[in-house]
Amino acid sequence: MRDENTKMINIRTIQHYMYCPRRWGLLEINHDWAENAFVVKANLMHERVHDGSHNFSDHKKVVRSSVTLYNDLPAYNLYGVADCIEFVKNQKGVKVQGLPDLYHVKIVEYKPKPPKECAYHETDAIQVFAQKLCADFIWGCDAEGIIYYSETKKRVRLPFDSMYVQYEKALKELLCEMRQFIDKHEIPLRRKGQKCTGCSMKEMCFYKTAAYSVKKEIFQNVYEEAGG
Ligand code: SF4
Repeated sequence: MRDENTKMINIRTIQHYMYCPRRWGLLEINHDWAENAFVVKANLMHERVHDGSHNFSDHKKVVRSSVTLYNDLPAYNLYGVADCIEFVKNQKGVKVQGLPDLYHVKIVEYKPKPPKECAYHETDAIQVFAQKLCADFIWGCDAEGIIYYSETKKRVRLPFDSMYVQYEKALKELLCEMRQFIDKHEIPLRRKGQKCTGCSMKEMCFYKTAAYSVKKEIFQNVYEEAGG
């Protein structure tokens, strides 16, 4: 049986894997990287979220942005950074190191715009669920998961109460698959039906090889025989 402690997984990379396993492999196993307009836009939005300007507190809550999280239980072995965590004062809540009261913990993940056909993307929900596992581990709480869409300025509460088991199962399966590729140092093949529009890794994904040329081959042989 494999040792699950061999590799901690960054929560951010789980979404890369769900979007396209091959892209994830190029990034995380091959360490290739390419930016395009979509990537830059997403990065700029996250820079704004993580610049500290979202930190504040009032009589009801303490809000912190860019909160580092982890859960090193062998079943998960995860770490990452949550966009924002709200510690809402609550007599039935938990103690949080460095803060004076008891709190209910809310994880708020920022996304640009909601999907058209449903309330949230499952890939986003999995990401927040992984953050929840870390928050619950650190503070001994039952953290709420929320996605905030900047385009509509609306919050969507994720159904972790009713669907905890399903999300945990899905996440564990993903982690297991990712670790198998990492252990084998293998880049996943392109998935059938994979949408590649807007992917910044196309150049690295579809290698362009020069077409075979008889003429070039003959000239190369003549050149080598002449001692070139
Ligand atoms: S070009 Fe397509 S298959 Fe290749 S990494 Fe990008 S999304 Fe994945």
